[in-house]
Amino acid sequence: MSDFRRDGEATLAWVADYLERVRELPVMSRVKPGQVRESLPAAPPDQGEPFEALLRDLDEKILPGITHWNHPRFLAYFANTGSEPGILAELLAATLNVNAMLWSTSPAATEVEELAVDWLRQLVGLPDGLHGHIEDTASIATISALAAARELRPGGTVLASEQANFSVEKAARLVGLPYRPLPVDDDFRLRPEAVAAEIDGAAAVVATSGTTSSTAVDPTPEIADLCARADVWLHLDAAYAGSAAVCEEFRWALAGAERADSIVINPHKWLFTPMDCSCVWTRRPEAFFHAFSADPEYMPDRDADVTDLKDYGPALGRRFRGLKLWAVLRCYGRAGLQELIREHVRLAQLFASWVEETPGWELVGRHDFSVVCFRREGSDEENQAIVDRVNESGEAFLSGTRLEGRFVLRLAVGNARTTESDIARVWELLREAG
Ligand SMILES: *Cc1c(COP(=O)(O)O)cnc(C)c1O
Repeated sequence: MSDFRRDGEATLAWVADYLERVRELPVMSRVKPGQVRESLPAAPPDQGEPFEALLRDLDEKILPGITHWNHPRFLAYFANTGSEPGILAELLAATLNVNAMLWSTSPAATEVEELAVDWLRQLVGLPDGLHGHIEDTASIATISALAAARELRPGGTVLASEQANFSVEKAARLVGLPYRPLPVDDDFRLRPEAVAAEIDGAAAVVATSGTTSSTAVDPTPEIADLCARADVWLHLDAAYAGSAAVCEEFRWALAGAERADSIVINPHKWLFTPMDCSCVWTRRPEAFFHAFSADPEYMPDRDADVTDLKDYGPALGRRFRGLKLWAVLRCYGRAGLQELIREHVRLAQLFASWVEETPGWELVGRHDFSVVCFRREGSDEENQAIVDRVNESGEAFLSGTRLEGRFVLRLAVGNARTTESDIARVWELLREAG
């Protein structure tokens, strides 16, 4: 154990140093395929090695192959944050190493998970009385929701906007339901009349709050009306924008959520919780239970007084994910979360204003949250070349997407360490590259 303390102190020092110096590292890894693997022994050692050998390789061989998601100028996809309370809570969760498949296999893990998810429910203003739990990703949360919906309408279609995340189509495929993407309006929002035309024969409609390309918010209240009338399951995918609802001024992003049958929000996206943590709530837990409960002989008899979370999702084994979410919500508090979210939105709006007032550049779509889609006048190839040049500089990392058939650049603020000068530097790099 003396080695453990020494290695532990060295590791924690490494973590603290990393968080201090990550800003100086090239954001995007530029290793060639196979380079990291070739730099490491192909076969395991016969005799165990000291942990410090691993820390050495981490610096010399692993870090070059890391794209630094915790870098303040990581602005690609949906930028995220491994926050300090989240990092420490992950260490504690690994130490306890419980498997929270049943309440009885570690009562506190189930109860803290349910409590943390309920705290988040309160923070984003969802109604009381929902059943909530944590899955690893929104992909799995959506698979769970569609499996629950299938219990009520086997064989029905899954409807979603053509801007919905690919995980929705994948989930439909996995639960064996046909998938139909539907058209969007000029702001990339699902058209309710398209839903109305297809609702007969649907098993579920998936509305998105904050689509992955342009962060559009589908008209969930209108879609909820249609679902209620046809008795069709409504799943709200708020993986990204749901976190914004921690601030009252963004509660509109969850309008209609109180009528959804299931809702997913990813704290590992824009709520400073390390990968992986996706919260799912439902007002129809019995449908989830039907889809997922099983009582094999090697499990103790069911205890009617408690919730066994294995009965609400695909996995049996369950990590103590609630601990890191609880840690983040406690250590930031409502005010701390609001401050960061507001700052991210402010930075994105500031960036959008620079794009708007600069000749030769244009905004594409709305930018209600912390993501801005934009492009330089010119061809798709020229715009791709701009983002490639910025990313190769190592100073920042952005991604692109396609909207209305055109390639657009996309700036996503979401790291807790991003400052106004980071955004200003990125704008400088973009203009130089353009
Ligand atoms: C990111 C995202 C997903 C997928 O999330 P995972 O947790 O990576 O599975 C699903 N839907 C939307 C709207 C997203 O933005």
